[in-house]
Amino acid sequence: MSGENERWFERARRRIPGGVNSPVRAYKAVGGTPPFIARGFGSHIWDVEGREYVDYVGSWGPLLLGHAHSEIVEAVKRAAEGGTSFGAPTVVEVDLAELICELVPSIEVVRLVNSGTEACMSAIRLARGATGREKIIKFVGCYHGHADSFLIEAGSGAATFGTPSSPGVTEGTARDTLNARYNDLASVDALLDANDGNVAAIIVEPVAGNMGCVPPVDGFLAGLRERCDRHGALLIFDEVMTGFRVALGGAQERFGIRPDLTTLGKVIGGGLPMAAYGGRADIMRHVAPDGPVYQAGTLSGNPIAVAAGKAMLGILKANPAIYEELERTGARLEKGTRDTLADAGITAMPQRVGAMHCLYFTPDPVKDWDSAEKSNTRRFNRYFQSMLASGIYLAPSQFEAGFVSTAHTDDDIDRTVEAMRRALAESRNEDAG
Ligand code: PMP
Repeated sequence: MSGENERWFERARRRIPGGVNSPVRAYKAVGGTPPFIARGFGSHIWDVEGREYVDYVGSWGPLLLGHAHSEIVEAVKRAAEGGTSFGAPTVVEVDLAELICELVPSIEVVRLVNSGTEACMSAIRLARGATGREKIIKFVGCYHGHADSFLIEAGSGAATFGTPSSPGVTEGTARDTLNARYNDLASVDALLDANDGNVAAIIVEPVAGNMGCVPPVDGFLAGLRERCDRHGALLIFDEVMTGFRVALGGAQERFGIRPDLTTLGKVIGGGLPMAAYGGRADIMRHVAPDGPVYQAGTLSGNPIAVAAGKAMLGILKANPAIYEELERTGARLEKGTRDTLADAGITAMPQRVGAMHCLYFTPDPVKDWDSAEKSNTRRFNRYFQSMLASGIYLAPSQFEAGFVSTAHTDDDIDRTVEAMRRALAESRNEDAG
């Protein structure tokens, strides 16, 4: 089949590594040509060949209200007409900072940046600068962006590339990143004991969304809080994915744990490039120019991104029922999935936290990277291709979370479940044959 998507992919690959700027979009894990997206509206996207899809990627998480939400588009237009960038203080930045601190009460002071990577990298530098310690503990299969310190047994795109630590990351950097097992406090204890007094921070995705969708087991997040207090380390919640998604106040509200620092991204920018890190005022006062921990950015606090973020958070704050609606939509999809699996006689594991979900092709519940890795990726790939052919756009990897938005209708969900029924029947027949 040689269509517009393929022609564009060929041209793209000549001038852009792998033809993509966000490598998880490259379809390397699942094979085939990625559709080139021409436009999106609500819960749907259209490719350059005019094919329509129900979108469960939502730009990898930001689009909690769907594509091209009228109030966000309007805010962006208005902001652009007033000038695209100043690199100087603006009133909307103050409005947004106040709104973030109100919605996420553990954040007393906040700094805006451009990407989740930048937020996490800066939070780690701050933790090291504020504690005078060098090591950090992260969890195998969690992803905190592509800064060197995090590319050690990382999740997301790094997981499907099969090179957990990227070439280019020095051994010295790798030595300062300690990897524990998700949902396993004993593995954290072992690292804390072996590195007593030298751990600056524990950074964790409070719901792991970069190895699929792995909820924290009871007591895991509270256990991290308690251990950080005991060892004088800072607890950093990476809420780039979960922030404003699993609850208005993020996973920390949903699970009732107060981290010292939080990183935010995705939803906070309403689909524009913006992210943030913030937390306890006494720690944040170490950040330049209040303090000596340097961090800056030419386009940080960009007025268009801030306007989009302010519109997004404003809508969420004014409509708390959105989270019940997301829960209902997520639950409908989960139920449809479970019923379909039962009818098809296939054992697979749907996992979900609110508006984040995934379907593992493994019979056992997934609680960490080792159990995620057991899933049958060949089966996932066949499922993915069949869903795509039916007009259902899923993340092209077993190890990514799927997202619903407020724009997803019951009809979208029912169409998706119908497509799933076909995909799983095909998969069973191929296995039998
Ligand atoms: N942290 C988490 C939890 C993420 O999911 C991501 C992106 N998927 C990042 C950090 C990095 O964000 P960005 O891609 O905006 O740099």
